[in-house]
Amino acid sequence: LFEDPSPLLVGLNPEQAAAVTLPAEHALILAGAGSGKTRVLTTRIAWLLQSGQVSPGGIMAVTFTNKAAKEMMTRLTAMLPVNVRGMWIGTFHGLCNRFLRAHHQAAGLPATFQILDTQDQLSAIKRLCKQHNVDDERFPPKQLQWFISGCKEDGQRPRDVVVRDDETRRKVEIYQLYEEQCQREGVVDFGELMLRSYEVLRDNDPVRVHYQRRFRHILIDEFQDTNRLQYAWLKMFSAPPLEGLPPSGNAVFAVGDDDQSIYAFRGARVGNMADFVREFQVRHQIKLEQNYRSCSNILNAANELIGHNSRRLGKNLRTDAGAGEPVRVYEAPSDFDEARWVVDEMKQLEREGMARSEMAVLYRSNAQSRVMETALFNAGMPYRVYGGLRFFERAEIKHALAYLRLLENPHDDNSVLRVVNFPPRGIGARSVEQLQDVARASGCSLHDAASGVTGRAGTAIGHFVALLDVMREKTQGMTLKEIIELVLDRSGLVEHFRQEREGEDRVENLEELVNAAESFVMQEGFGRDAVALPVDELGAPLTQSPASQGLDMSQPLVDEPLPAVVPDTGETLSPLAAFLTHAALESGDNQAQAGQDAVQLMTVHAAKGLEFHAVFITGLEEGLFPHENAMSDRDGLEEERRLMYVAITRARQRLYLAHAQTRLLHGQTRYNLRSRFFDELPEDALKWLTPPQARQGLSAGGWQGGGRGAAGAGAQPAWTPGWLAAADRAPAPKAPEPDRGVDLRAGQKVFHNKFGEGKVLAIEGAGPDARAQVSFNRHGVKWLALSVAKLTPVDA
Ligand code: ATP
Ligand code: MG
Repeated sequence: LFEDPSPLLVGLNPEQAAAVTLPAEHALILAGAGSGKTRVLTTRIAWLLQSGQVSPGGIMAVTFTNKAAKEMMTRLTAMLPVNVRGMWIGTFHGLCNRFLRAHHQAAGLPATFQILDTQDQLSAIKRLCKQHNVDDERFPPKQLQWFISGCKEDGQRPRDVVVRDDETRRKVEIYQLYEEQCQREGVVDFGELMLRSYEVLRDNDPVRVHYQRRFRHILIDEFQDTNRLQYAWLKMFSAPPLEGLPPSGNAVFAVGDDDQSIYAFRGARVGNMADFVREFQVRHQIKLEQNYRSCSNILNAANELIGHNSRRLGKNLRTDAGAGEPVRVYEAPSDFDEARWVVDEMKQLEREGMARSEMAVLYRSNAQSRVMETALFNAGMPYRVYGGLRFFERAEIKHALAYLRLLENPHDDNSVLRVVNFPPRGIGARSVEQLQDVARASGCSLHDAASGVTGRAGTAIGHFVALLDVMREKTQGMTLKEIIELVLDRSGLVEHFRQEREGEDRVENLEELVNAAESFVMQEGFGRDAVALPVDELGAPLTQSPASQGLDMSQPLVDEPLPAVVPDTGETLSPLAAFLTHAALESGDNQAQAGQDAVQLMTVHAAKGLEFHAVFITGLEEGLFPHENAMSDRDGLEEERRLMYVAITRARQRLYLAHAQTRLLHGQTRYNLRSRFFDELPEDALKWLTPPQARQGLSAGGWQGGGRGAAGAGAQPAWTPGWLAAADRAPAPKAPEPDRGVDLRAGQKVFHNKFGEGKVLAIEGAGPDARAQVSFNRHGVKWLALSVAKLTPVDA
């Protein structure tokens, strides 16, 4: 097939190689997890570049996370010497940001527009509601946020929303007011990044034509999770450029897996795949069926599970990797024990030589990470949490960023409100209200309204504004690091937290911000003396149409240098502005020091596309995973199952599944049934670490008595946990009573010299291996080797 194979193709299977070397036409690669979709996509970029079909500037690649974008760039540079900065590789949001920076005028945005993350957006909405006396019982801000984001994801401005009732009318009014507020303040939220750049492309012919001719190849990973607007945005690059002209001639290369579609709740549409095939008249569709990631026990588990879904396009996956270890299943008495078990297993893997960064703990909801973090912390095991409270979302960091943002844009009211009295400087709520009143009356920003406030409030606010002005002046010409240091100092933030009783952490985080800025500067490659980096090699917005510059628009460009359609006005983005953008878009993390080998903690959603040697999926309980919000209808349940499929297929060699009988969640003790997903896995791929009797106890109804989640904190369960009950009824053959002088049994009260009084929960093993699990009144639950520990029975 390939007489003179490029070294890039070595090691690829025939389907993969065929996908990599497809002609420059639209294509869809539909394939299951771990079949090499991402690898094919990356290799195709390298192959296109190497074979001279396109220059780096002619490539746009869309990834799902920033982490994935970085990884792609790393892999590319490893494959061939190429300047990755010339390529547009990033997330939808990242690319839209880049686009809007270059075309802020066409988009009607200030050059220094700031990005609101989800938190900022919510506080902006809350502020708006307060100002306009919106009843927050009827219209909770969170719900409004959901509404506004949903509209934007569907490409709808307030005027586009179909209003059928009063409630929607009111919501649309608020949406309208919110838009005006954002525009006034020069800020955009995530949805706006997308929608605004879509509109610029749609409404501005020269801009659209320019990019259509520029991006010869557009490649999209995780295509199954694109939403309506993202798809429409992509179409802008390939639509016929102008009425009557032939299509632009670029090629869209989409890869995806319908079984891994897990963002329907955020508007993702699997249907985009079918639409893509139809609307782009896709002639090349390739399936990949060989899985290179997982051992067959793991793969079989994944295949069998997903087989329970009815709505599938249908794909098979096979592996040559061999059976590998069985999937280990553990039933823990509590979430604490679950976490402890995970840590123990991790230590074992570590002893076997596995790097910590190759181990991941996955959970359905972020709230589950806390217990796990505590256990890891206690065990002295470094860990890193992805997608939890991001570094840049911590309160103290937000405060520092607000000051920094105000240097760039004094009219950012959100930021003013955040720090006008932080650290406290005697500007109370009443003074702030006064300030807001003046701003409203004169239709200006809070910053500009300051001079209109009288009395003592006026003086204090005046001082604050003066402080900002002084900082802005002082930081002119400074490096990013110097700017941040000055701001941390002059704002009084560091001093404030130093005096706080538990402020040490926060001071450290603020110092970490300086480090984050430093490494940002290094990564972005502008040296110490540079104070500005180019927005893009293309510079500023379009002013002339390509046609007016005498370009023949009927001919597609094949790798010729791009015409200077975009006049370079030398407009630049300051390092500070670039850093603030980075802070809003990047999911930073800082629990483990950079470079330290740390285990990885994340939600299943955040794990998409990643792989690890060992994966622990925790909290496999009804109501948690599948999540209670998704259990009532078939679509919801199928999405949960796809999520479980994603989780399982992250593992290369080892997979561990755990659930707990009791769990403290959101301040409530919950007694959950184990997840139905266990019943959908092939029994011969599993190894149950809890006695099988226990499981029979479970299915025999030992659990059914207690209302799930009904009991409040501290309440006693009205039933006996399954395997305790089973152990009580008849000792398991595999776990006979230990051969010791004392006759211990589950439920027995005991005394230990060091841990005091407790109650035996379970007994496992025999002879010298026998161990007892004891819940001590003061020291929690412990496993003790009976050959060592002295347990004295206490009469009840
Ligand atoms: P997911 O659906 O989870 O995103 P994917 O289809 O994108 O998975 P990749 O991440 O590209 O799969 O590949 C999975 C693993 O298999 C990677 O470690 C990759 O390097 C490896 N792999 C892919 N193709 C081959 C091959 N032909 N030979 C050896 N290893 C391969
Ligand atoms: Mg992938």
